[in-house]
Amino acid sequence: MEHPRFVIDASEAESMAKQLGLTVLQLLPTLVKEARSLARPPISSYYVGAVGLGSSGRIFFGSNLEFPGLPLHHSVHAEQFLITNLTLNAESGLNYVAVSAAPCGHCRQFFQEIRNAPDIKILITDDSNRNNCGGVAENSGDAKFESLSHFLPHRFGPDDLLDKNVPLALEPHHNHLSLLSDFNSNIPNGITSRVCDDLKYEALEAANKSHAPYSDCPSGVALMDCEGKVYKGSYMESAAHNPSLGPVQAALVAYVVGGGGSGYEKIVAAVLVEKEGAMVRQGYTARLLLQMISPKCEFKVIHCGLKSR
Ligand SMILES: [Zn+2]
Repeated sequence: MEHPRFVIDASEAESMAKQLGLTVLQLLPTLVKEARSLARPPISSYYVGAVGLGSSGRIFFGSNLEFPGLPLHHSVHAEQFLITNLTLNAESGLNYVAVSAAPCGHCRQFFQEIRNAPDIKILITDDSNRNNCGGVAENSGDAKFESLSHFLPHRFGPDDLLDKNVPLALEPHHNHLSLLSDFNSNIPNGITSRVCDDLKYEALEAANKSHAPYSDCPSGVALMDCEGKVYKGSYMESAAHNPSLGPVQAALVAYVVGGGGSGYEKIVAAVLVEKEGAMVRQGYTARLLLQMISPKCEFKVIHCGLKSR
């Protein structure tokens, strides 16, 4: 079945722009309305759409996600969704973003995890519409892209805390994690060992791509829906800690991008891989979030450690 798309290939982006007599850059704000329509904000009813142009020439969508029954900090902002979508598709750079409302302080901070963050150009289409997601024209006719450094001068970011050679978001990560040997000892009832077996390797792969340079506590989640389709997400930290995006949220972005359906109750199994005894643990929060959005989902935490090299 067809599902909404969140990535447009470079060649298709070029032909779409050509058809409209636009450049690819001018095409971005025209797609913001479509990105907004994909948002899932049942708490605020405030739809946000972000459309990014990656260094490969591909276009990526981001939309906000909210989860009733949980504290607001579980929400995924459209810009966080966008950056996660880039990582899911191995995009190495983000150059331009058109977004429906001014990025909040949290997202201006989250962008800092990208190497060239101050140079990312942002256009606010400002279709100020609080209650629905349709019928508002994009006000981008003569609007200009401005650098992120304009929106967030005097930034605090990775440069303040990390060596220059530490990989940042969108750069390849190899965390050298492997599963600890006792992982089979406590498979919960309900998840067959085969399902858990499949998911634990997917979750390990996600943990190995996790961006967690501030705590050194990488983690990853793999979800499976009732059709057996797997979605995985990697924990992504922010230098300012609070804007960090949890691994379940990242996997839920993968679920939405992958056409996982309008609700989350189709998610039937989930595995989190994280370090044993880690200073920053995701297990309790992940369980809480999954219980709320898909009460029947079976959840398992599996520990990993550094591969001996
Ligand atoms: Zn935000």
